[in-house]
Amino acid sequence: MDSNAYYSGKARKGAITEVGIHTGLCQAARMLRKNLRFYCLTLTALTCLVLLSPARFTSLAQAKARRVLVISVDGLDHRYLRDADKLGLRIPHLRRLLREGEWADGVAGVFPTITWPSHTTMITGVTPHEHGILGNRRPKEEGGDYYWSADLLKVKTLWHAAREAGRKTAAITWPVTVTDQIDFNLPEYFQRRNGGAMDLPSIAAKATTGLVEKIARAYPSFPQEWMDDRTRTLATLYLLQYEKPDLILLHLVDLDAEAHHNGPFTREANALVERTDELLGDILKAVPPDMVVALVSDHGFERSDKVVDVNAALARSGISGKATLTPGLLTTREASVAEWLRQPANAAAYGIGREVPKDELARLAPHLADALAAFEPAEHHLFGAGKDGQLFSAPAEIGVHGLWPLRKDYRATFILWGRGIAARRTPEISMLALAPRLAALLGLPFQPGARR
Ligand SMILES: [Zn+2]
Repeated sequence: MDSNAYYSGKARKGAITEVGIHTGLCQAARMLRKNLRFYCLTLTALTCLVLLSPARFTSLAQAKARRVLVISVDGLDHRYLRDADKLGLRIPHLRRLLREGEWADGVAGVFPTITWPSHTTMITGVTPHEHGILGNRRPKEEGGDYYWSADLLKVKTLWHAAREAGRKTAAITWPVTVTDQIDFNLPEYFQRRNGGAMDLPSIAAKATTGLVEKIARAYPSFPQEWMDDRTRTLATLYLLQYEKPDLILLHLVDLDAEAHHNGPFTREANALVERTDELLGDILKAVPPDMVVALVSDHGFERSDKVVDVNAALARSGISGKATLTPGLLTTREASVAEWLRQPANAAAYGIGREVPKDELARLAPHLADALAAFEPAEHHLFGAGKDGQLFSAPAEIGVHGLWPLRKDYRATFILWGRGIAARRTPEISMLALAPRLAALLGLPFQPGARR
């Protein structure tokens, strides 16, 4: 058989056969396509059903959600970190966070820059005027006690949002948390103080039932009379190891007390920053990989040398008008006083600092926006009434805060650290930005200012 015959014969036969095969293949392909279409449609429908189900929504949100440990170091002025080399600070764990985490070039606080309003702003994202915690203590007409109870909060906090989402919450010495709505709670509450330490019996009386005993079983050196930063750290280690909350709010207090007594950036205050770093080292060893650490502070700090009675100075200069004095800011409604304050010679003689622009005043202290003029004291000065009509007097404390939020270099701290957080230095941020950022990390819907 020649190749042609073979070819032609085969070809004919083959042609029939090939047609048959082709037909068969086409039928098979059509069936497969039909089946594939069926399978695809079925798969799509099933996927849609699964995706649209509430359970799936929850699990998607949880897949993105992180756990968050907020460590607030009370009074950790941004300069301790920015100028760590100049201050000679031995703070390897803080330096690790700065190197590996996201570090803001300072946090502009809220007015007043004091502890309880600022801590509440950090977890609500709104100003003290909006969240209702106007000072550490309530106004005199309300009795003047601390804002202990969480019932005094006008708006939702991060821990409210976490709880609503079914997440576990914990707080250690966090202000305005006397409540049973936090799963593991050692609230900031005390009858007695010893520097930054608070008496444990008072705390235990308001704490989550049984929590003090559980921590004491795990850490026998916990239940000493005074709860200080060491035992606050033990409580945190207990929570990380045994209870595994989704959100922990930890407030370390000892640096603030030391800086009030000795002044910030002194040998004593620097030593306390180094001690805090040791405790941070203990905590970082226990932080699980799915947890982000937010290291924050509530306000900056400044050494105070003199209190100036500006009203006494005005009287001596023959000006009849007056100024309203708070330690960190004076305001006036009188044109003659504003004019006197703007004289460079008066400013130099009486410790008058920067005039706060009207728009800044309206933004940070809307209740003072109708003042004709507002001034900060000069560096290391405070405003206040003098003793026996004296122009200048000694301050009650060497270290102070409560100053104007945008005072030069007077900033709080913000570092984020953990898996998925890129190492970078960011520009200065507002304290109002913290709560939404932390809520996003937790995977929580959060609207700053939402009423409770
Ligand atoms: Zn503070």
